[in-house]
Amino acid sequence: MDRRNFIKLTAISGTTAALTACGNPENQIIRFIPEEDLVPGIATWKPSICPLCSAGCGVIARVMEGDAEVFRNGKPGVIRMGLAKKLEGNPEDAISQGKLCSRGQASIQVTYHPDRLANPRKRTGERGSGQFADISWDEAIKELVGQLDALVAADDQASLALLTKPRRGRRLALLAQWLQRFGAKAPVTFELFSDDVLRRANEISFGAAQLPTLDFEHAQYVVSFGSDFLGTWNSSVAQSAAYGRMRQSGPGGRAKLVHADARLSQTAGNADEFVAIKPGTEGVLALGMAHVIIANNLRPANGAGRAGAAIDGWAGGLAAFTPAEIEKKTGVAAAKVERLAKEFAAAMPAVALVSGAPLAHSNGLFQALAVNALNALVGSVNVPGGVSFIPQPGPAVATRGLNEILQGAAPKVLLLDDVNPVFASPAASKVADALKRIPFIASFGSFVDETSAMADLILPDHSFLEQWVEAVPESGSAKAVAVSAGPVMRPLFDTRPTLDVLLDVSRKLAKPFAPALPNTFEEYLSAAAPVAATDRRGGTSVPPAAGASKDAPLRTAVAYADPVFDGDAAQFPYYFLPYASQTLSDGSTAHLPWLQEIPDPMSSAMWCSWVELNEQKAAELKIAQGDLIEITSTQGSVRAHAFLNPGLAPDAVAMPVGQGHTNFTRYATGVGVNPIAILSPAVVADTDVLAWSSTRVKIARVGGPEGDGLILFGGATRERPDWTHGRGEEH
Ligand code: SF4
Repeated sequence: MDRRNFIKLTAISGTTAALTACGNPENQIIRFIPEEDLVPGIATWKPSICPLCSAGCGVIARVMEGDAEVFRNGKPGVIRMGLAKKLEGNPEDAISQGKLCSRGQASIQVTYHPDRLANPRKRTGERGSGQFADISWDEAIKELVGQLDALVAADDQASLALLTKPRRGRRLALLAQWLQRFGAKAPVTFELFSDDVLRRANEISFGAAQLPTLDFEHAQYVVSFGSDFLGTWNSSVAQSAAYGRMRQSGPGGRAKLVHADARLSQTAGNADEFVAIKPGTEGVLALGMAHVIIANNLRPANGAGRAGAAIDGWAGGLAAFTPAEIEKKTGVAAAKVERLAKEFAAAMPAVALVSGAPLAHSNGLFQALAVNALNALVGSVNVPGGVSFIPQPGPAVATRGLNEILQGAAPKVLLLDDVNPVFASPAASKVADALKRIPFIASFGSFVDETSAMADLILPDHSFLEQWVEAVPESGSAKAVAVSAGPVMRPLFDTRPTLDVLLDVSRKLAKPFAPALPNTFEEYLSAAAPVAATDRRGGTSVPPAAGASKDAPLRTAVAYADPVFDGDAAQFPYYFLPYASQTLSDGSTAHLPWLQEIPDPMSSAMWCSWVELNEQKAAELKIAQGDLIEITSTQGSVRAHAFLNPGLAPDAVAMPVGQGHTNFTRYATGVGVNPIAILSPAVVADTDVLAWSSTRVKIARVGGPEGDGLILFGGATRERPDWTHGRGEEH
């Protein structure tokens, strides 16, 4: 009898007795005593925070009484308890404003996922084989404490490292404090689509090393340089809400959105004007617009202050950036550059933004500085309708980059906090090989993935709905807030909150931390800021301290350099444009079946990988929709089915990131291919951020549309028989 049938039997019999006749513990039916006062059929709403990206959207969970499969004291059983049934945006939350993106809606599946880790595990097979045996929490903590005690005994505490996704607020502060108290270095963070280039540029231009908040609502003119701000970048829920208000005709008329890109993204599809541009030259267009504005005396060059001073040639009016030169470098017609610049200067307030692919070239820092200078030139910094920076609660917690582990001395003990660099790094980075050299790895995530499969010990976390959570949004709101919220429901399984486990370990070491840290993260939150009882809507919202960013010293002015690509243009003629999936993001949400099932907003594809080709270029190459294409870089090859996109540059091919997992639950494993694997490991100049847009590829048709490789919602391929380019094949 499997667990599903076991639940069915429970529901039919309604018994509360334990059945032991089968002699198999899996067949025991235990109905635990209810632990809560619940009124059957009546819903309550409890606040929490979506964990699926760093935007920190506030949610409310509809909680009702229900029967749940649980583990208690090492035994499976059924309990009637309060269960989260549905998530919505919290209307009281400054970021979500009552809305959620598709990932936020699907985040409830994290809690009820059939492959979620239900108890601690110890590795039994080869590293990476995914073979583990269940162990008790006492055994798991004893194992981890033993490893840490050994480091202390050898006076080698610096050989402990913690690798986490970029976190903020008091959770990161506590992790850093724990490491510092142990004697280890700062946390190591990893994120494929890192925004650190933009943070660095903002520090240079404006003295604020953080992501900006864009006041779309009050803007009259927006120029997006490759930023998919309505789809995948930054605080997309808050940005979409503000954009919606911007598009309602106000006193100044209907605001205009211009989008410059090499590919028609979701944001590009919403724009009034799409400007096709050569990849890696977006900053050149920004400076061309600035040149026109200065040359026509629409704004003085010195009005851009330090943001202008960061650009080589700014004081001289950017003489090298005439519209004719811009046309040569970017492919954007000189007359269009003139017109866009004059429209931008005339419409007040007007704001420009840049993110994503333009910042993932070798010259990414220059691109960001150029757009910052354009904003500063037209006076759109810290004004309504412009770009601003919300106050942060104290100085940022220092972190380190993954390269310190990959290239420096390997740690002896590594703690993994819900991060998957083995999947989300180029194969050339050899992350798995680096992890194999680490003697002991403990993972705290809720699922086995390509990285946690390398662990020796797994200590599974509560889901976000089962524990205290907090968010200190970096951007997305004009109002600075820090939000915390308590558990929405009791834990289903034999899991523990990661921070509580670390705090427990700190007390069980041979030399416990003295003075001791708080017993739990809840206590830590209470000590850091008053945490009131949660109510139906709110959670707890307190204003953080203002003015945390320090002015960064001005550096030497940055000059434009052509982007450097991996792969010779003659042999690899296409720019390779990987992009964050609207639903699967960087692949970290590919395990949620709702997100696999949602059609991509631009292609309508689902449950698969696809490669986007320009429609006319495909006709030249006799490639039809759905054909199997091999994409090859200097780093390797992947195969995916063709999707013909009229909004893609003819010399580019694009692929969504997110699929191609080899070990990430039943829903993601073996679905599609991973384009990250064939990227060059090059980094953006002056940073350690992966230049994920700097790879060139060649393509070859290696097969037809056999099988169900390209799955489009509603069978859209059949509606476009012309896509067969006269071969008469119907797909
Ligand atoms: S933007 Fe989407 S994924 Fe990110 S926190 Fe908000 S709802 Fe969650």
